[in-house]
Amino acid sequence: MLLRHTPKEIKERTALRVNPAKTCQPVGAMYASLGINKCLPHSHGSQGCCAYHRSVLTRHYKDPIMAGTSSFTEGASVFGGQANLLQAIDNIFTIYEPDVIAVHSTCLSETIGDDMNQIAAKAKEDGKIPEGKFVIHASTPSYVGSHVTGFANMTKSMALQFAQKTGIKEDHVNVIPGYVEPSDMKEIKRLLKEMKVKNIMFPDTSHVVNAPMTGKYKMYPDGGVTVDELMETGDSSFTFALGQWASEDAAKGLDAKFSIPFDVLDLPIGYKATDRFIESLRKNAGVTVPDSITVERGQLMDVIADMQQYLYQKKVALVGDPDQMIALTEFIVSLGMIPAYVITGTPGKKFEEKIKQITKDVPYEVKVKAEGDMFMLHQWIKNDPVDLLMGNTYLKYIARDEDIPLVRFGFPILDRIGHSYFPTVGYMGALRLVEKILERLMDRYDRDISEEKFELVM
Ligand code: SF4
Repeated sequence: MLLRHTPKEIKERTALRVNPAKTCQPVGAMYASLGINKCLPHSHGSQGCCAYHRSVLTRHYKDPIMAGTSSFTEGASVFGGQANLLQAIDNIFTIYEPDVIAVHSTCLSETIGDDMNQIAAKAKEDGKIPEGKFVIHASTPSYVGSHVTGFANMTKSMALQFAQKTGIKEDHVNVIPGYVEPSDMKEIKRLLKEMKVKNIMFPDTSHVVNAPMTGKYKMYPDGGVTVDELMETGDSSFTFALGQWASEDAAKGLDAKFSIPFDVLDLPIGYKATDRFIESLRKNAGVTVPDSITVERGQLMDVIADMQQYLYQKKVALVGDPDQMIALTEFIVSLGMIPAYVITGTPGKKFEEKIKQITKDVPYEVKVKAEGDMFMLHQWIKNDPVDLLMGNTYLKYIARDEDIPLVRFGFPILDRIGHSYFPTVGYMGALRLVEKILERLMDRYDRDISEEKFELVM
């Protein structure tokens, strides 16, 4: 067994992380950039960094992820990467013809102290940015935060570097979907359409990282928010920011610059968070809730009621990004299950406070850790096992070692498909989550039950 050396005895650790539950800032920044139509993400650092960022996303989406790199070598590492980035901007616009280059920094360029604002201005001054084309940039040092922070930083950059105010109040709203799958973004757009909410969603990776196979290679698939739409975000009447960690900064930035009121909501994972999202849309976008959405909610509630006996008091360990974990923990509690352990790799004390608040009435001493790691989780499980694991692909080692069923959820999922196409947000997404949870729990029950108790109908 791969993790056979994980000791049961827990010792205090402060500086060391083993199997951290996060990846680096530029991965999130690159993912957010892909949510702009005809945008080429650009990693301002070494080729190795860019290769890593691309490979994580390519493996997760099973689609080729394109990006440029400033290709730092020894010279740039010592004297700064301005010349490399200027050359890269020139080459990329000439050869690959994107509308936008979205540059994110890396540990190395941040340590050197490259000023991307100044480099982008120089590129403009030197005539390296053609008319009607754009270079945006975000600071994403990976020695702080995580891929979620990188996503938030790039999302804020795309809002603030493009948005303009014409003074003409439009009847559309901004929707920042958070660090979710393209399938989730599509589902949020479907809900908005059902509710007749005219909106600009950014970033929007649907039909970019899950584009169809057509037999013809398209460097820039059809999806993504357009530059024109991003410019119009300054005239929106309201901003809905889903997920505090991933979306709040952009909403606050738009409010500070253009006085656009906003609501920061949890990701709509589970019926309670979806209820709050729908209610906020109703109130702040001035729309009514159609029967079709009420029906979806009712179907979800019916399944939860029908299958309650298989969910009740089952203990779950959860690992993932803070926005996902907060909404998922609330959903798990609302299903009558026990979120025994909740871990995120992203820093933030308020994460622990929020989980404690959500689980305050749970009849179990719930353990929660921000900036935690999977080694710690494994030790907790060794001391007091759980019935189910929920989290990214890296949990499969603990699942195998401890013989615990695993529901893959979150980022990255490197060894399964589905996340690109089937959402987990909204009432229908919650239904899919319940189905996945029940599938694993009931398969395990069938596997372990004695022959005389083995039933065709459970
Ligand atoms: S050096 Fe920094 S930016 Fe590059 S891959 Fe590693 S953590 Fe990410």
